[in-house]
Amino acid sequence: MLVLDFDGTLTDVEQEGTPFTVGFLQDIARLTGWTLDRVQQRAEQIAALIAADPGSHGWKVDGVIMAPATVDPYLRIKPIAEMIFDEAGIYQDPDARRELLTGTLYSQNYQRTTMHFANGAKDLLVAIMRQELDCYIVTNSHTEPVQEKIRRMGMMLADECDTLYGAAFINWWLPRVHGRAKKYLPGGLDVEPFELRIPGLNRPVQLRRPHYFEVLNKLRNQHGITWAQVTVVGDIFELDLALPLALGGQVGLMVNEYTPAYEVNYLRTRTPYAEVMTGLDQVLPFYERSPGHPRNHW
Ligand SMILES: [Mg+2]
Repeated sequence: MLVLDFDGTLTDVEQEGTPFTVGFLQDIARLTGWTLDRVQQRAEQIAALIAADPGSHGWKVDGVIMAPATVDPYLRIKPIAEMIFDEAGIYQDPDARRELLTGTLYSQNYQRTTMHFANGAKDLLVAIMRQELDCYIVTNSHTEPVQEKIRRMGMMLADECDTLYGAAFINWWLPRVHGRAKKYLPGGLDVEPFELRIPGLNRPVQLRRPHYFEVLNKLRNQHGITWAQVTVVGDIFELDLALPLALGGQVGLMVNEYTPAYEVNYLRTRTPYAEVMTGLDQVLPFYERSPGHPRNHW
């Protein structure tokens, strides 16, 4: 079974995320009563602080860092909002703040994102469909906006090839999108060890992500396979890959200019279970070598 992350893996998040960031900063200005100029200036200062020390700054949930804050615009905005809310003295209740940052504001502004698929995304999704591989898109984003992007890709295919082909693509992919995976949510989970130490990172990587576990485990059970037969490809090691790797799965990290060097260095020590990828054309060759690919089933 092959599991793909969506944002940053199949899409160019930096391109797509610009209207998200602009909208989020406007919301912060509205909520704090600060001018938009002041919010933007402070956001830039905070972003620089965060980039200089990825080990200390991150996406905190229940007081625990669940992912570095530097890797995509959706993550970068959260510590910025947290710090500005602290400075403005608003949303001090952790539950209300989390609901706002990961719920309302996130989903409202996610709807503003534009559509920029990553190079090779269409070829990869078409190849997976043609080979009828057991493949799913598992994302923190809501299911519907991701399905909408898949639908638009299918419509592009309909223009390029023919209508029936585009419709077949849409019908094949839409039910394979699983949103709201909440990969960032910590909690009780019986996984050993429950955290991972990586050279070059001065805090542990959290492996107890019960909601993400449930999503992956449900799909795994549907196919009656072991964790070793699960391959996950994503762009954020801590969110997408640390848990499936710890459970015995195979993982591919799609790197970009924001990927921390310590993640790349660590994953290179985990060959053949892990691969560092620079392009989507590397996904299927990696999957073909993994125990989960149909040609390797015994
Ligand atoms: Mg991602």
